[in-house]
Parts: sequence; structure tokens; C-alpha cells
Amino acid sequence: MITTTRNLLKSVIAITLVAASLAAQQPTAPLFSQKTLDELQRVQAAALKSDRAYEWTAFLTNNIGPRFSGTPQAARAEQYVADEMRKLGLAVEMQKLKVPHWVRGEERAELVSWHGMTAGTIQKLVIKTLGGSIATPPEGIEAEVVVVENFAELERLGRERIAGKVVVFNYRFDRRLSDAGFGLEAYGQAVQYRSSGAIAAARYGAVASLVRSAGGSQNRLAHTGGMRYDPAVTKIPGAALSHEDADLIAHLAKQGPVRIRLKLGAETLPDADGHNVIADLRGSERPDEVVIVSGHLDSWDVGTGALDDAGGVAVSMQVPYILKQLGLQPKRTIRVIAYANEENGLVGGREYAARESSRLEKHFAAIESDLGVSHPVGILYAGRPEVGAAIEPILQILRSQGSGLTRRENGVGADIGPLTQRGVPSFAPWFNTRKYFDYHHTEADTFDKIDPDEMKKLAALMAVLAYALANAEGPLPR
Ligand SMILES: [Zn+2]
Repeated sequence: MITTTRNLLKSVIAITLVAASLAAQQPTAPLFSQKTLDELQRVQAAALKSDRAYEWTAFLTNNIGPRFSGTPQAARAEQYVADEMRKLGLAVEMQKLKVPHWVRGEERAELVSWHGMTAGTIQKLVIKTLGGSIATPPEGIEAEVVVVENFAELERLGRERIAGKVVVFNYRFDRRLSDAGFGLEAYGQAVQYRSSGAIAAARYGAVASLVRSAGGSQNRLAHTGGMRYDPAVTKIPGAALSHEDADLIAHLAKQGPVRIRLKLGAETLPDADGHNVIADLRGSERPDEVVIVSGHLDSWDVGTGALDDAGGVAVSMQVPYILKQLGLQPKRTIRVIAYANEENGLVGGREYAARESSRLEKHFAAIESDLGVSHPVGILYAGRPEVGAAIEPILQILRSQGSGLTRRENGVGADIGPLTQRGVPSFAPWFNTRKYFDYHHTEADTFDKIDPDEMKKLAALMAVLAYALANAEGPLPR
């Protein structure tokens, strides 16, 4: 029996080897022609010299400002991007959407009682209400805090110790992991407390939920971001604390009861109008096939969303700019999308994919840049593993600027996620995210954080990748 199995195995291996060598012998046309590869060198060189994306980012952030969904600045930014793309001669469409309209309002927190305090004093805390939170009652909440390190500790304390109190989730953002270049991984670990802390705390009767910021700022800034509610669980207000203030509360709570006063004036208004800005540089040979280059145009209402994600939109806009400058027309259509409402709803990405659901096979590839603006070390992709080998000639070109690595991920961008899930090969710049999460969703995400030389490398990667895919001689594995 064993011998037979062994023999069978041997012949299977032999057949597989023959099949593999036959496949290897079959002449397959290269995915990129020599002409395309030569043009890619010119695209890269031109992008490495261009300040256009940097200038667009300056206008979006310094002149327009934060572009939170439902605000006049968000609408102004949509018009601005549309106008700039029309100036380049692109066909522009505004996809009409209904987007969430949440307003931050007042946010105030202070410690009013703790061990060793000087009578009649308070300690002000730096907080940011989390997007989507309800308000506190107009007079605010005053209650004792209970500090937990994680969900398991919350569960251990149970209703008896939690009911009527303000829960402080003191889960630490892993700075070491972030400093080692894995900011997104560190963020992924911490963000669950921000998104579902209020649900977990409310299950045990808490009156509010405060989370240590899911980010790396060490300048006493709180990182905002989205939070969720469960329709089956009482809604309680939620806010993020700066790291310094989370440490302060944890320190004092070890010594005795700590009381906090919290006043949040957040409000959810009826959905507002918003638009995906969709601008096509028409392809010469296969105009119905589309390569998307994208970022999201909305930002949080704090800072000016330079890293998140004006820069991503601007480097996408620069792709057709560079091609026009060089007089190059792609074979497939290059579609710039400035998505609306990524931050507090993901409406833009979802609605675009829904609208295009019958034309997804015409979406040759989708690219999104939404992890800041820094030196890209290469390209992330989501899709069949064979895609990595298919883009090797592109990486060879990008290696000259230090962007030649590649790695496969399950998803590479929130807005293009619905396309990725439906099988559209998806790409993103692979960033070193060492610093990104120090500024992410804070008042410090501003234009000065962008290094123009690093932005040029990012813009070059986007243009080389987009033009290569748009000119590919055959389909990508999917
Ligand atoms: Zn973003």
C-alpha cells in the first residue's frame, strides 16, 4: 500500500514537473512592451522634477482647509479638483452622494477630584470627541473613572464595578512597532478600542467611554477617528484622550477614586450632499477599460488633512498632468477618483463600486494612496499572487528611486476595498509608516508635514504604475 502511494506520488510529481516545464517553454508575450518601458522612464523622470502635486496639496490644505463631510470646504474642494482636472482636458463627472453630517461641537473634559489634589482646583484634559458620538446631556457628565487596559479587564471587573462610571480604555499604541516601520500594524491593534469601546463599556452600564488615542503623538494631542454603536446596546458618548492624559488618569486612579467632568456637544445632522470627483483621461486603444488612481478628498475636521489624504488625491491628479506634459496618451483610460466621505462613512468608495457593479470586469486595476506622504519603498498589491511577478518590470524601474519592493496584502485601500473584494487587482504605495501615525487624525496633520522630495517619489511611483498598467499588453491575473 505504502509502495503504491509512493509510486503514485512520484508520477504525480513527474507529471507536474513536465507540465511546469511545458508551461515555461510556451512563449508568452511580455506584459509591457519596450516602448512602454522606455516611456515609463520618461514618466518617472518628469514626475521626480514636478512640484504640481505639492502645490495642489498646499491649496487643498492651506487655502481650503479641513474637508470634513457635509462642510462648505468639502464642497469647495470637490469643485476645485473638478476644475483642475477640466483644465487638463479630462472628462469630469461628479457622482452625487448622500454623506453623513456629524458636527463635533464643544468638547471639554477635566478632573475634578483625585487623591492629593489642592482644594478648589481642576486638571484640564486634552480630548477629541470620536466621530459619530452622541452628546453628553447639556449639563455634562460627572462620574468616577474606571481604568482598564483592555477588553478582558473590562469583562473581569463586570457590571458591579463599571455601572455609572466613565470607562477609560488605556490600551497603549505600540510606539516601538510603529518606530520600526509598522505603524499600520500598531494602529490595527489599538483602533478596536476606539471603534467599539463605547459598545463594550455600555454593556456593563458605563455612562461614557474614553480611549487612549490610537496613534503615536507625544505632544499632548488626541487622535480622533470613527466610532460605532450597536443598535441593541445603549449609546454612550465617546472621546479620545491624549497619551499624556491617559497616563495621568491611570496614575491617579491607582491612588484612589478619580472623578471626571465631561461635556460633549456632538450632533448628527441629516445626511448632506457630497460627490466623488471622477476624471477620465481617455485611453487610445481600450477606452472602455479603466485604471483607477485615487485618494480620498474628505478629511477629519481637525488639522487640514494634508497627510490624510490631500496628498493622496494630489499625487493621483498629477498622473494625467505628467502624461499630458509628455504628450503621452495611455491605451486604457486612466480614471482619477477623489473619493468623498472615507473618514466617517466610506460612502464614496461603496457607492462607486455599487454603481460600477456591472462593469467591474472593465476595471483593469485600481490604485489608491491613503497612508500619508513619505518615501515609498515599493508597491503593495491585493489580488492573485501572480500579480507580484507580473509587475516586476515596473518595480525594476522604480528601484532606481528606492521604491522596488513588493508585498501582497488582503486589502490595500479603504475606498478601493469594495473593488478589491470583487476581484479587481488593487495597488497602493508601500510606505514606511514610521511617522504617519504621530499625526494621523490630529490637529497636527498639516501641510508642513509633507516633504516635497518624498512627495515627488510618491508621485513618480503613482504615475509609473498607472501608465504601465494602462498600457499593459494583456490582462493581469485575476
Ligand atoms: Zn485616509
